[in-house]
Amino acid sequence: MASAALASSPPDGSAADPQKIIRRNLPGTSRAKWSNWPDQSFDEMDSTLTVQQYIQQLTKADPSNVDLILNPPEGQDINVWKYEHLRQFCMELNGLAVRLQAECRPDVCSQMTATEQWIFLCAAHRTPMECSAIDYTRHTLDGAACLLNSSKYFPSRVSIKEASIGKLASICRRVYRVFSHAYFHHRGVFDAFEEETYLCRRFTVFVMKYQLMTKEILIVPVLEELGLGNESTVGDSTVSASSGSPASKGESSSASETEA
Ligand SMILES: [Zn+2]
Ligand SMILES: [Zn+2]
Repeated sequence: MASAALASSPPDGSAADPQKIIRRNLPGTSRAKWSNWPDQSFDEMDSTLTVQQYIQQLTKADPSNVDLILNPPEGQDINVWKYEHLRQFCMELNGLAVRLQAECRPDVCSQMTATEQWIFLCAAHRTPMECSAIDYTRHTLDGAACLLNSSKYFPSRVSIKEASIGKLASICRRVYRVFSHAYFHHRGVFDAFEEETYLCRRFTVFVMKYQLMTKEILIVPVLEELGLGNESTVGDSTVSASSGSPASKGESSSASETEA
């Protein structure tokens, strides 16, 4: 009897109001019921996580509706909007990382590369180092999560410190490499994931919309599919790794790559 009574009472004490909708995935929620609650209009949302809730609601409804998902509600603080989108991208990118683990192993991809032009150094260490692609992916996503949850740089989710805005662009640049590695080295994994999530397309439009990355380094050609790019957006002819010079290791702007 006791367990039956317990099972019918949500742990947050909302049993008194059976009409109340709990918009939360409680422990033990099945896949079929995951996030399975009715939509709300943005104006009806009243928690401090309203922006996240709104973005997740739009994404779940139709991840391919990139323009709608990235279009801020009227009056929305744009820095919070950018911050919350980047949080969401990083969370979803973990889904790609999980799938990559099946075939991206340190013995197969010993370096983080996309095209042959760059070997990316992992900035998650005291001294940036050459982690294998899958370790780079894990370390970079962990580092991004730590930074986005840092009480020093992002103490609030209702206003973003001006001094922390610059962090968003560097996170974007680093996590983008997970897309580019997947695209150029694990195309089957990339395509299957992209087909379901449209994550790279959303991310690409997002970073262009808010000028967080330049077109030249957006090397996964999803913009062409969207009709937003042209040939000149693909590739980077500025430096070639085949020169064999030390400068070909890491990134052209190695100073920004090794920042903490
Ligand atoms: Zn790989
Ligand atoms: Zn690393």
